[in-house]
This record gives sequence, structure tokens and C-alpha cells, in this order.
Amino acid sequence: MNCPKCEFYESEVIDSRKSPFQVRRRRVCVKCGFRWTTYEVDEVIYKKAMLKKKVEKQLRSIFKSYIKNLSAKEQSEFFDEI
Ligand SMILES: [Zn+2]
Repeated sequence: MNCPKCEFYESEVIDSRKSPFQVRRRRVCVKCGFRWTTYEVDEVIYKKAMLKKKVEKQLRSIFKSYIKNLSAKEQSEFFDEI
């Protein structure tokens, strides 16, 4: 990641914070000391989140089809148990 000010190729990460899809990094230029922030999509985090979404979706559809096959009485019993 080049420095936005002097375009020097080397920078140090002084702080990083992870959010669900992004990594926010505070960087400082090794040469001129300029500080800036980058937002990067963390591929691993992103993939995990996507996978989680996929699994949740599948579970929901399984759950839905399961509920559909129950009678009204069974359904109310089912929800009482939850
Ligand atoms: Zn610089």
C-alpha cells in the first residue's frame, strides 16, 4: 500500500479494527510519517459471513418445509416448546 502523500511503497499498520466484512487499518508511512486509513475487505471474514448466510438460508428453508407439514395443533405445540 503506497503512501498517498509521497507514494513510498512501505507503510506500517499501527491499528486495525475488524467489522463484519471489513478491516479498517490505520497506516503510517515509513518515509514521511503520513498517516491514513484504509478499508479492506477481509477475504476470510467475507467468506465466513457468506457461508454463514448460506447455511442460515438452508436451515430456514428446511425449517419452513418442516413447519408446513405439521398440523395447526402440532405447530402451536412446536412453538410452545420454543
Ligand atoms: Zn509518505
